[in-house]
Amino acid sequence: MSIIVTFLGGISQYLIEAKQWFDELTNRCPHCEAKTHRHGQYLRTVWSELSAFQIPIFRRYCPGCVRTFSYIPSFIKPYARFLNSYRLHRIGCHVLEHVSINKAIRSLSPASVTSISTTTFRRWLKRLRGIASDVNKHLIKRLLEFQPNLPLPSGRVTDLFFLLQTALKFHLRFCEISGVSADSLGVFDLLNLELPIALRI
Ligand SMILES: [Zn+2]
Repeated sequence: MSIIVTFLGGISQYLIEAKQWFDELTNRCPHCEAKTHRHGQYLRTVWSELSAFQIPIFRRYCPGCVRTFSYIPSFIKPYARFLNSYRLHRIGCHVLEHVSINKAIRSLSPASVTSISTTTFRRWLKRLRGIASDVNKHLIKRLLEFQPNLPLPSGRVTDLFFLLQTALKFHLRFCEISGVSADSLGVFDLLNLELPIALRI
């Protein structure tokens, strides 16, 4: 089973600090609190705009639950091939800035080497549209906890447009309040740490 754990600093930092980060995590099982044991690591390939990275994923085993846990750094979703920031960037272009799908899937900067298929992009959109309404309920609740009289985006916008706008606002407020640099924790990273598993972005 995969557990997403906060990692501040993004993938380049992770390549340097992964071992230390993992060493400092609790050895208690997230389900039964029993003491867990190290259970090796494996390499995963993930893509950013600029290149492919091989990152180590560390595991622990719980004798109480008889289960192995993979500790996923928060900049990537379990089983996803692309960084959260990559997906946010392209989806944001299309939904918030009305860039066509054909343009949004192409390389966004001259330096970028990766591109995705229309099918993949449409799959991302479909998945997000499907959960947008439920995600929005969570985000509104959390935003109002931060700031009870906060003006929320209004007007005739789609659930997905609302989700992205609200997520950006939530991310900003969260970073301000918790003193985390907005560059070190992405918007989707934060959402995936906050949302229930079924609503992970
Ligand atoms: Zn356990």
